[in-house]
Amino acid sequence: MPGSSVVTADAEVRVATHCPYCALQCGMTLVPRGDSVEVAARNFPTNRGGLCRKGWTAAALLRKVDRLTTPLLRRGADQALSPASWQEALDFVAASLRTIQQSYGPNAVGIYGGGGLTNEKAYALGKFARVVLRTKNIDYNGRFCMASAAVANQRVFGVDRGLPFPISDIPGAEVILIVGGNPAETMPPLMQYFEAQRAAGGKLIVADPRRTPTAASAHLHLQLTPGSDGALANGLLNIAIREKLIDEAFIAERTSGFSAVQKNVASYWPDRVERITGVPAASLLQTARLLGTAKTAMVFSARGAEQQTRGVDNVIAFTNLLLALGHVGKPSSGYGCFTGQGNGQGGREHGLKADQLPGYRKLSSVADRAHVAAVWGVEADDLPPPGLPTMELFDALGERGGVRALWVMGANPVVSAPNAKTLEARLAKLDLLVVSDPFLSETAALADVVFPVTQWAEEEGTTTNLEGRVLYRRAALAPPLGVRTDLEVMKLLATALGRGQHVSSEPSVVFEELGRASAGGKADYSGITYAKIQAEDGVFWPCDAARPDGIPRLFADRFWTPDGRARFFPVEYRGPAEQPDQEYPLYLTTGRIMGHYQSGAQTRRVDELNVAEPLAFVEVHPDTAASLRIKDGAFVHVETRRGRATCKARYSRAIRLDTLFMPFHFAGEGRANTLTTSAVDPVSKIPEFKIAAARLVPANEREAKP
Ligand code: SF4
Repeated sequence: MPGSSVVTADAEVRVATHCPYCALQCGMTLVPRGDSVEVAARNFPTNRGGLCRKGWTAAALLRKVDRLTTPLLRRGADQALSPASWQEALDFVAASLRTIQQSYGPNAVGIYGGGGLTNEKAYALGKFARVVLRTKNIDYNGRFCMASAAVANQRVFGVDRGLPFPISDIPGAEVILIVGGNPAETMPPLMQYFEAQRAAGGKLIVADPRRTPTAASAHLHLQLTPGSDGALANGLLNIAIREKLIDEAFIAERTSGFSAVQKNVASYWPDRVERITGVPAASLLQTARLLGTAKTAMVFSARGAEQQTRGVDNVIAFTNLLLALGHVGKPSSGYGCFTGQGNGQGGREHGLKADQLPGYRKLSSVADRAHVAAVWGVEADDLPPPGLPTMELFDALGERGGVRALWVMGANPVVSAPNAKTLEARLAKLDLLVVSDPFLSETAALADVVFPVTQWAEEEGTTTNLEGRVLYRRAALAPPLGVRTDLEVMKLLATALGRGQHVSSEPSVVFEELGRASAGGKADYSGITYAKIQAEDGVFWPCDAARPDGIPRLFADRFWTPDGRARFFPVEYRGPAEQPDQEYPLYLTTGRIMGHYQSGAQTRRVDELNVAEPLAFVEVHPDTAASLRIKDGAFVHVETRRGRATCKARYSRAIRLDTLFMPFHFAGEGRANTLTTSAVDPVSKIPEFKIAAARLVPANEREAKP
């Protein structure tokens, strides 16, 4: 049976599971051998046996010597963290939470979750916040990830599923445009689908300020100015309309709002768009004609276009283009978002987000509150209202009338949050910081209490990949002594707070309850069971009694808006919050590299990955570097209005002359997020990680600290 644990003839146990890292959630097999665990290939329908470097080395973390196996407690403000018993740590946290809530009210306690938490944990944590703590303040680091695409998907199509089609549809698309995404480095096994598309005669176009490996593999690379994505999309639509490439029948039958968009893009002439984006008008024409004459086409966006103060608008501008060309709701066509984190999709479906209840229900809806409250056995009126999105939550830390205690589960915001020095200062003002983590991450090191918790292969649970396919992860080995699962910690803490009856520590029990809570919602899991997932290599949501097979392809007949039509919205280009100027003349953009994942709390501990890429660096065009008398490999200071990072310069002709790139996986002197801005998209509240005005300064070798 797919997904099962198999004992072979020579008594070798082989456990079918999934990678702990990104949203592709590649299938893999774990083979425990004495003191180590090996990763073996698994022919799962998405990755088809492929894994990236991170996946192949993922098991190294399971036996890592710096693994936390006992709770840590700071027994005084000026004291170091030291070992404590579980009882002492839990009693300390429960007593502190009680005192803080009695003094400042329930909302003085906040929770910040991670996009890698399983569906069971995400659901349970959302319930814990609203039922056990009765606080409105819970959000998760998916806010930094897919939030803009999620809002755009809801507005345009009525539902947010990263991809509304399976990745096996990709090879059938005649033309594909990827905007601000680099799967060749971030999701390498996904590239086999794009390679199959090209092998079948398809065309791949990539819009990115860097000539990434993905862009280098494309037929056409649009090396746009950072922050000009919306203008690019409007310009392409302008050409498509003038050249009569739009699908008027599709627009009339399946959409609403086109005339306002038609007027809106009329001023985005190719020469104007060339000035804004830096993309030659001839390339704009070529792109519009390729997309407009194709029978099937897809557009994918990722963080490059989404992590901007115009992130929602950028995505909508591209959905406008696709809808006008009639490339949605048809086979091998449509818009998709490359979700980033392992369970970024499931986390936002089941209550980790400040405004959402399980099943994509809304805290602002009377009917939604009533449904979920009935499943939870509480009064709907007792559920809190929507809470603060992440950056507002962070701004409230330690403030009068704000949040006095924060529990961080499965996240490392000291490295991954923008303007990270400000966050460090805010965390220091808290009365209580609790962190659950298998390792002493940079955030855990600042905590008052650290709970040592299990890793992915030591517990069972489900995740939902970028396609909306719900997957089952099986426990492959027992956790070290002294370690507990996140669900067990929630149960123990809820019990200590007198509300243990609301929380189960059994993943299967939590998943069954999640199914009931999501029933009737957009992300309906009520027809999904662990056995069904294993038998069918994953189940696409929605899946309920009426749709027992799940729905791999959404929108074939109608969109999920009230009238069944997809919506156009006019989008005006406005540019990023911070533009280069005389003082800070360059664009700084940040992103991921092949060998590391997110804040690096895991991958920086994997020797093989760390040896390959041990330090932060800044990618700079050689001509830009030469004008600043900076040599390849020299230490430099990268400076913005938030502060300074120090790292080595790495020459690259793949980057624009006016742009710098830093990976965001590193802590300390090379931390990219020391430099990034707190400015957010007004709707999705995603920070503008992708653009900051910066300058590059040669560092005195003696003062540079690697
Ligand atoms: S592509 Fe993503 S899920 Fe697959 S092995 Fe790499 S990190 Fe893991």
